[in-house]
Amino acid sequence: MFSIIAKNLEVVRRRISAISIASGRDAATVQLLAVSKTFSADDIRAAYTAGQKAFGENYMREALDKIAELHLLRGLIEWHFIGPIQSNKTRAIAEQFDWVHSIDRLKIARRLSEQRPTHLPPLNVCIQVNISGEASKGGVAPSDIAALVCDVALLPRLRVRGLMSIPEPIFGLHIQCTPHRRLRELFNAINAQGLNLDTLSMGMSTDFSAAILEGATIIRVGTAIFGTRTYLAH
Ligand SMILES: *Cc1c(COP(=O)(O)O)cnc(C)c1O
Repeated sequence: MFSIIAKNLEVVRRRISAISIASGRDAATVQLLAVSKTFSADDIRAAYTAGQKAFGENYMREALDKIAELHLLRGLIEWHFIGPIQSNKTRAIAEQFDWVHSIDRLKIARRLSEQRPTHLPPLNVCIQVNISGEASKGGVAPSDIAALVCDVALLPRLRVRGLMSIPEPIFGLHIQCTPHRRLRELFNAINAQGLNLDTLSMGMSTDFSAAILEGATIIRVGTAIFGTRTYLAH
């Protein structure tokens, strides 16, 4: 089991290198976030041993169990919260995570800022954009992003880093590029207004090549590293 995860990681890293070269980018500008939802602390340890440092989790109770189980790696692993956020979960996120990718309203951002412990550095956050306009999907409409980014940028205990999206699943490299390009253009437009975003969190197992081509700085990859998720842990 451990060696499968190590091998998968190696394959993903090679693909990141190849596609970075093809897009004229330095592979070091693409951070791999290993999405470990539904997988065990042992699986995370296996990936960590194979050199993976950043992990993404979606479900709070499951995440807190794994963070507790891996407490010896505290400060060595970087924890990213990437799931929908209920307001009663903000304190645990503010206390236990280094990054949050899924901010979609000011109320949640305010609570995270208020609850971020003073002994920790500011919490890194991305605003989630509903880039495909799907009614069922979380995230803010593109037209409302600039205003929310500006409001969140004023919160003292948060550091607004960029934008995140989960486009609707489509297949084929060329058409997969479209939503990622749209997110990058939104990102550029916001920076042109004087903000200083440095993070585009986009691309998952089936579309990370397209995301890298369009400028992703964090790709969030689960299945291609850990295998198919066979159950829902929450
Ligand atoms: C599960 C998940 C991923 C990873 O998806 P895979 O298809 O398994 O790579 C990435 N981002 C978010 C927000 C997720 O919930």
